[in-house]
Amino acid sequence: MIPLIDLLADVRACTRCELPLGPRPVLRAHEDAELLIIGQAPGTRVHETGIPWNDPSGNRLREWLQMEREEFYDERKVAIIPMAFCYPGKGKSGDLPPPSVCSETWHEPLLERLPNIRTTLLLGKYAQDRYLSWDGELDAKSSLTERVRHWQTWAPEYWVMPHPSPRNQLWLRRNPWFEAEVLPAFREHLQSRHR
Ligand code: SF4
Repeated sequence: MIPLIDLLADVRACTRCELPLGPRPVLRAHEDAELLIIGQAPGTRVHETGIPWNDPSGNRLREWLQMEREEFYDERKVAIIPMAFCYPGKGKSGDLPPPSVCSETWHEPLLERLPNIRTTLLLGKYAQDRYLSWDGELDAKSSLTERVRHWQTWAPEYWVMPHPSPRNQLWLRRNPWFEAEVLPAFREHLQSRHR
């Protein structure tokens, strides 16, 4: 098995997809990391800066985690591996979905090299579709709201949340239980298991 550092060099040289702004894989990983964040794909601001979650979505995510930038970007603590590593381009309503070839190609070899991950945060349906297993009341067709409502099904290994994008402002307003119930539970988990 090649070391993580060499695998990351391969990922950063990846040109598998045809992309409007060209490939620029943005991710962070270190063998010591214990918290893994799997989101969707970089937006244009992240593409420009090469820094993951360096945008309004990231600001909200850090607020949810109650984490300063310094801790959030400490790759010995937090791995950031989205469903696609490059900006996918614009669609009719917002950015295009992450190209599935990215997670299909890279996630498994990357995760094999992260033996210390204890908590995985799945932000949005794409990440959840790939990593959640189904039993009980829910199945793969369940809505994001149903999944988040049943967060305890997968916690504490996986935490199921909406994407923190400003586009989800309305969802957050309609579902105040998320900020009242799920976020405090997640913060308590972080405090007790990761700090
Ligand atoms: S999105 Fe992923 S698979 Fe596509 S070019 Fe970027 S790193 Fe490669």
